[in-house]
Amino acid sequence: MKKLLMIPGPIEYDSDVLNALSLPTISHSSKEFISVYRDALLNLSAIFGSSTSDSLPFIISGSGTLGMEASVVNFIKRDSKVLVVNTGYFGDRFVDLLSRFTSNFEQIKPALGEAVDPSLVREKIDTNEYELITVTHVDTSTGVRNDVKRIAEITRNSDTLLVVDAVCSAGGENLDMKWGIDVAFSASQKALGAPPGLAVGVASNRAISRMEKLPPLSFFSDLRKWKVVSTGVLDSKGGYFGTPNVNLVLALGISLSKIMKEGMEVRIRRHELMSASIRAGLESMGLEMIAKKAYANTVSAVYLPQGVDLKKFLEHAEDRGVVFASGLIKEIGGRYFRIGHMGNIGPSEVMISIGAIEKALEANGHLMRPGIGLSAAQSNLFKSS
Ligand code: PMP
Repeated sequence: MKKLLMIPGPIEYDSDVLNALSLPTISHSSKEFISVYRDALLNLSAIFGSSTSDSLPFIISGSGTLGMEASVVNFIKRDSKVLVVNTGYFGDRFVDLLSRFTSNFEQIKPALGEAVDPSLVREKIDTNEYELITVTHVDTSTGVRNDVKRIAEITRNSDTLLVVDAVCSAGGENLDMKWGIDVAFSASQKALGAPPGLAVGVASNRAISRMEKLPPLSFFSDLRKWKVVSTGVLDSKGGYFGTPNVNLVLALGISLSKIMKEGMEVRIRRHELMSASIRAGLESMGLEMIAKKAYANTVSAVYLPQGVDLKKFLEHAEDRGVVFASGLIKEIGGRYFRIGHMGNIGPSEVMISIGAIEKALEANGHLMRPGIGLSAAQSNLFKSS
């Protein structure tokens, strides 16, 4: 039986994207490849709301964590003062990463399920000289979306560089470098619609000129090296630092051009509607979200009803054809699950998912009116038609 993958990345990929992985691998210095790579960089810039005159796009073989590293180590020196907005598991990861380079960092840690209050960020930025602040746009562990636009309004008028983890947001949430973001990064496997293996991102001219005054702290994630590659590719000449994952770049290129064809506004609205419809279904079944209000378009983290065993619930859902993910937050581990709803998500995926959740809950003793979740999701999906 084909199972529908509804975890927060990897996701379901289009067949033309997947087919690119089985094409004969061409030379990474061929005109043909440089042209695909160039288009991918240009589309990536556009998806992040920037252009190559005001920022540098990059694509590096590796997972999102490499993007995290590249997006911070290039813009700090040993013992730089930094601030981490920590709304979950991936905020903790920033702390772990940054603590290898500096002991001079602080965190703002909102209560579980809450987004950061931008006025707290303002207070911190106004009274400290941070060189850099990191914000996880959507924390995949909680489904909470931070208000990056308002945070950028604060940092853009300061000397603090704003680094945004957009791994779980780019391609599914409104995100615009023009708000005043300095560095934003993501990974191929989520709403950008290509299999895992590429770290991607955009660094503003302000960030790049800061980088050029600092000594490098790393090697493979040194953006000075990748800048030569990106600028060479953008000039259609090509450039080499590490051999690119040729077929994965071809796959990403296809996916990014499909995103551009759909148009970011339409795409974000679609993600928003699918997320709200899933939530309508879940809430009608009496389930509670971890996010209190700032719901992400791309992922939902959901408490299980008391007495429902996570492992059994996930197994039952899988038996009904849908794969969901367990939680990542230790303190509530075992009490919640996550649904990824990004990429080519549409009404079919919403209905199949809610149907599987209903049945899996029922099998685990959570009784409710049959079809209640499906009916609520469907009404939300088609409320405007
Ligand atoms: N940041 C966020 C918000 C993520 O969701 C993830 C992956 N789930 C990462 C960083 C790390 O990415 P990867 O697992 O690809 O290294």
